[in-house]
Amino acid sequence: NGSYPNESEAGQTVVIGSSGFIGRFITEACLDSGRPTYILVRSSSNSPSKASTIKFLQDKGAIVIYGSITDQEFMEKVLREYKIEVVISAVGGESILDQLSLIEAIKNVNTVKRFVPSEFGHDIDRAEPVEPGLTMYEQKSKIRRQIEECGIPYSYICCNSIAAWPYHDNTHPADVLPPLDRFQIYGDGAVKAYFVAGSDIGKFTVMSTDDDRTLNKTVHFQPPSNLLNMNEMASLWETKIGRVLPRVTITEQDLLQRAQEMRIPQSVVAAITHDIFINGCQINFSLDKTTDVEICSLYPNTSFRTIAECFDDFAKKISDNEKAVSKPVTASNTDIFVPTAKPEAL
Ligand code: NDP
Repeated sequence: NGSYPNESEAGQTVVIGSSGFIGRFITEACLDSGRPTYILVRSSSNSPSKASTIKFLQDKGAIVIYGSITDQEFMEKVLREYKIEVVISAVGGESILDQLSLIEAIKNVNTVKRFVPSEFGHDIDRAEPVEPGLTMYEQKSKIRRQIEECGIPYSYICCNSIAAWPYHDNTHPADVLPPLDRFQIYGDGAVKAYFVAGSDIGKFTVMSTDDDRTLNKTVHFQPPSNLLNMNEMASLWETKIGRVLPRVTITEQDLLQRAQEMRIPQSVVAAITHDIFINGCQINFSLDKTTDVEICSLYPNTSFRTIAECFDDFAKKISDNEKAVSKPVTASNTDIFVPTAKPEAL
């Protein structure tokens, strides 16, 4: 794939969290780039869907190492024995501080050329969501400061939102179809956000790991073609399904109330949804720090998938499901959840 700049020089890479939502996209991109790809898998990770993801990645060429990043001695051994040059972590929100022992291991081994900690959202040094989103940001911030204090070469990936309908209570919105009954629109629906395809989050993250221009930088994903507000997202989805759906307003207060309920992880998503679609946290700042880089300016000739293309994928899932002769949708004939019940009213 010609879009990877230094493919021939790409170093041994380990991805942590490959069985997860973001980690799978990263690992697939890593394998597509042709670099030697190791995946660290916890032996406790034994759900059928995670096992099938691991099997899929193994079949694509990933080499599995069993263990946890919380075992520092083991991680030092892994980094040394496999001569790991790039470490990409996509551990979930509840495991952010597990990365402290990984940082110690990377520091002691001292051969890792790039560490990408688990971020994959907003610039946590700028955004300030309400609780419980704030606690997660503070944990990610603690990881950043520790990396910098240890002098570990890093890239922080701020890829903004994943291209999908931004449900306020679902951590993995790309696993769910956009609405088929009604749209829940946050506030006036006019605040824009960047919606980036999961495959592009993976692809551009991997590209930036062996690019000198992203060394010790915060990498912002701001493709102009992927900047939409909720009203535009709703209209676009209507063109894909060929009908108009009613719109229900979810107010700022509704979102704040959901956040205050402190249900984890739903309230974290509500807090971040509030920050995106009410506060405009993805668009209310300029890239004016010397540590900021914008991904499109680095790779002007590599395009991002558009939201229209991503919505085409969702629409195809619906038509494939319909063609499956009114068979009930099960995990065996789709990996996309089709909502049968109406979204819970606020
Ligand atoms: P998931 O919960 O889907 O997956 C987490 C993965 O990390 C799992 O594979 C899990 O393994 C692994 N893991 C957790 N702890 C350890 C450990 N100690 N050692 C080894 N592996 C471990 O995570 P997400 O994909 O939801 O989140 C990843 C990052 O992406 C987070 O920073 C999150 O905030 C961000 N994010 C961004 C989104 C966006 O739209 N921009 C959307 C969702 C997340 P196991 O199978 O053993 O549990």
